[in-house]
Amino acid sequence: MRPTFSAAPAEPAATQAVRILQSWGLDGLDTGDLEVRSPIDGTRLARLACDSPEDIDAKVGRAQAAFETWRQTPAPVRGAFVRELAEVLRELKSELAALVTLECGKIRSEAEGEVQEMIDICDFAVGLSRQLHGLTIASERPQHKMFETWHPIGPVGVISAFNFPVAVWSWNAALALVCGDSIVWKPSEKTPLTALACARAFAEAARRFGRAPEGLLEVVIGRAEAGAQLAADRRLPLISATGSTAMGRKVAQAVGARLGRSLLELGGNNAIVLTPSADLDLAVQAIAFGAIGTAGQRCTTTRRLFVHETVYDETLARLEAAYGRAPVGDPFEAQTLVGPLIDRQAFEGMQAALAKAAQDGGRVVGGERVREDLGAEAYYVRPALVAHSGAENVFEETFAPILHVFRYRDLEDAIRRNNDAPQGLSSAIFTTDLREAELFTSATGSDCGIANVNIGTSGAEIGGAFGGEKDTGGGRESGSDAWKAYMRRQTQTTNYGRTLPLAQGVRFEL
Ligand code: NAD
Repeated sequence: MRPTFSAAPAEPAATQAVRILQSWGLDGLDTGDLEVRSPIDGTRLARLACDSPEDIDAKVGRAQAAFETWRQTPAPVRGAFVRELAEVLRELKSELAALVTLECGKIRSEAEGEVQEMIDICDFAVGLSRQLHGLTIASERPQHKMFETWHPIGPVGVISAFNFPVAVWSWNAALALVCGDSIVWKPSEKTPLTALACARAFAEAARRFGRAPEGLLEVVIGRAEAGAQLAADRRLPLISATGSTAMGRKVAQAVGARLGRSLLELGGNNAIVLTPSADLDLAVQAIAFGAIGTAGQRCTTTRRLFVHETVYDETLARLEAAYGRAPVGDPFEAQTLVGPLIDRQAFEGMQAALAKAAQDGGRVVGGERVREDLGAEAYYVRPALVAHSGAENVFEETFAPILHVFRYRDLEDAIRRNNDAPQGLSSAIFTTDLREAELFTSATGSDCGIANVNIGTSGAEIGGAFGGEKDTGGGRESGSDAWKAYMRRQTQTTNYGRTLPLAQGVRFEL
């Protein structure tokens, strides 16, 4: 398999669509009732057949069989397979990114960045494959040795969201693979074609590697019910689920009911605190990227901004000017910075949130539908700012480019309002005052999984652990020691003496 697509931005999306899909062998998929549409112009890309419960059952069975073999493959050899996967992704970066743009509407540089993130996590995992370190622990008993060892956990169920249609899978897959696990992946029903493309890249890596068992990756096509079936399946000891908090609650309950493990990466409601000492040029740039990049459809999108009252008016004026300049349009066009919302439902959700904000006294700037010329079922919006005058706050995540701007007087109060949100994913402070930066990142500062200084809330690197607290679900993926979630821990004690001393001095002699 070797797609031959190269980007030709002057073509209409529908024409490009056909060519991109053909190059991946993903055209002519017109056999089922799962409609996949491009948000760029509403074109129907495919009608896929969903897997039946029996199909899903069989796929989990194949992944389980693959696990039996894969867990016996030495970890550095597993790493060599992930290195092949990284190579294939490098070769196909531009083509896969084009498909990401086509299916989920990201602008080209963000789509390429998403594929780069896949390559980066593979590289990280290759190194990790020689560093799945355990511990030696001092035993209290003479002539005893105590260890902590990490073993593969089993086939891992991965449920992913539409907005990072390929990277989220790779964060899970690259680590799970070097940890010795097989994968059953249910992508979003809005972006199954990119998942099928990833499965092709995976198959090519497996062909080159030559020793990957059948069933190492199984892709399940389906809607929520398919995800629910995976969550309930006891053969999947770990379910890693990325999506809304509502979905995560259901998955957590289903997995918890069978005492399985879940790794949850759920909704965010991320805030930036802008202090009087902030470098405003830097801050405005970062706020714009965080709030309107990816058309506000990142889990780490900046949704709330707490601005010190002394710089509130200036900040708002600069943001309004920046928002007015933001090019909204076809994400294949080089100058576009804000692409479409994923679908009509997202547009309606945004309009409802703005109507409520206005009703509650907020001053709404922007938010209207634009570029209707691109398609009746394509939803482009001017990003919205909502200026608030009092001590309000916003507790719900609306998955669209809406930035709520609030005033604050005391930093402690701004931090409290940052933390009052039920979600706890990402947060940031813009300041040049060391004390403010340290307070924000201290134990009494931001309660989020990510706390940045002079960087916006989105755009994390793969080297750190990624995830958040409270309604964001508590999971951690990607870098640091996130790999431990994909393994089971075993404490091993060996007695190399000739007596049997018991721990805690217990005596039991027959
Ligand atoms: P969604 O919750 O609608 O769907 C996510 C996935 O869950 C889909 O594959 C869907 O089919 C599946 N699903 C839905 N109900 C299910 C159920 N009951 N059981 C099992 N699976 C089920 O989310 P979305 O609209 O695709 O994505 C947007 C949301 O994802 C936002 O809330 C965003 O913040 C969040 N998100 C979080 C992260 C993170 O890392 N924290 C990353 C990306 C997106």
